[in-house]
Amino acid sequence: MDVSDQIGGRFVRMSRDEIADFQGEALKHSVAQAAKSPWYAAKLKELGLDPRDIKSADNIIKLPFTTKEDLRLSYPAGMLAVEPEKIIRMHTSSGTTGKPTAIFHTREDVDCWAELMARCLYIAGARSHDVFQNMSGYGLFTGGLGLHYGAERLGMWVIPAGAGNTARQILLIRDFHVTVIHATPSYAMHIAERMVQDGEDPKRLGIKIAALGAEPYTEEMRVKLQELYGFKVFNSYGLSEMNGPGVAFECGEQRGMHIWEDAFLVEIVNPDTFEHARPGEVGELVLTTLRRDGMPIIRYRTRDLTRILDGVCPCGIAHARLDRMVGRTDDMLIIRGVNVFPSQIEEVLMRHTWLGGNYVIQLTMREALDQMTVKVEIAKSTFDGSIETIRTQRAELQKELREQVGFTVNVEIVEPGSLPASEGKARRVIDERGGHV
Ligand code: AMP
Ligand code: ZN
Repeated sequence: MDVSDQIGGRFVRMSRDEIADFQGEALKHSVAQAAKSPWYAAKLKELGLDPRDIKSADNIIKLPFTTKEDLRLSYPAGMLAVEPEKIIRMHTSSGTTGKPTAIFHTREDVDCWAELMARCLYIAGARSHDVFQNMSGYGLFTGGLGLHYGAERLGMWVIPAGAGNTARQILLIRDFHVTVIHATPSYAMHIAERMVQDGEDPKRLGIKIAALGAEPYTEEMRVKLQELYGFKVFNSYGLSEMNGPGVAFECGEQRGMHIWEDAFLVEIVNPDTFEHARPGEVGELVLTTLRRDGMPIIRYRTRDLTRILDGVCPCGIAHARLDRMVGRTDDMLIIRGVNVFPSQIEEVLMRHTWLGGNYVIQLTMREALDQMTVKVEIAKSTFDGSIETIRTQRAELQKELREQVGFTVNVEIVEPGSLPASEGKARRVIDERGGHV
């Protein structure tokens, strides 16, 4: 594939051997760099490891894993590996509760991220003459600025539309002849359904390429969206700990996402034994940054379950391909592209003494948008017979939940004892959204 060096062509064209050589050197550098941060310095010392013990990419197994909890514990800046003056940007993960996980970037890091993102869009078929509409939230969330700088690097005409406001999204797509979009799959579906309801045909928008990601979706969802819009859908995978989007992306073949192995060292491990999975076996994706100096992360346990696809991709790119994510090893939910842990909801509910202890979180779809309803029992002792009191308390609860997760949560207060009592493990989450895996 003819890829300019402006978007890392020399990396894109690497053979398997070249990737392996590059990774050996890059890992040595990354570990030495990580050791400059207080967190990793202490960690390596504790394990009696010296960065010089790392001599090749295979030595990765000597190194400790890093978890989301480690990122929280090292918050705010325990993993910062350069002088603060060198940092030009920070982002956080999309979960909005308590302590977020913060990621820091130097100028070179931001530049590398834009390069990675630009190549993603390029291999999917986007070119500089395309008009690109980014429907991701801008701000701390990585989908906005991440895609934005990548698309600019490619030279596209970029419309930073941000998330939401469907009528305006459609207007912009139409008036500026948008050919490439970025959104969550559920939001792309929402727009299509809204148009169909209004008697309009999404195909007439003329969009050719849709980069869809930030949440899991099925092959069936891809097919449905492609039929509705007449565009091609390319799966886009990333996580804020590894910059955000730009980690892995589908090429024109649409069969698995090439993960950029010059920037990320990939491992698939058995989540129970932590041993490497056999080739082609599903396991937890573990990633190490190879080209980020501001905050290198070693062996990050993504909790995402996937496998590496076998064989060589007909597009000619030698970077490995990840299969669609099949699930997660934890209970994290992704709602409208935002990470939510059931415990965040419970935290708020449990602060309200007028509520009982039993609750369920119900997830549904309305107009292709995720809806969260929390059903919670009122405590028997606090019910004073006044509907007005309940109404006020319910409104307060809803406000707090909104602050906690960042979107509106429906709240239903139900009578004591009316929710199914748990026998053993409580089934707190009822996911009735089709299309989500
Ligand atoms: P965040 O750090 O907030 O960007 O969220 C990252 C998480 O979103 C990942 O760990 C995945 O669980 C999920 N995710 C992102 N992109 C995809 C995708 N294309 N398919 C499935 N899950 C995804
Ligand atoms: Zn390919």
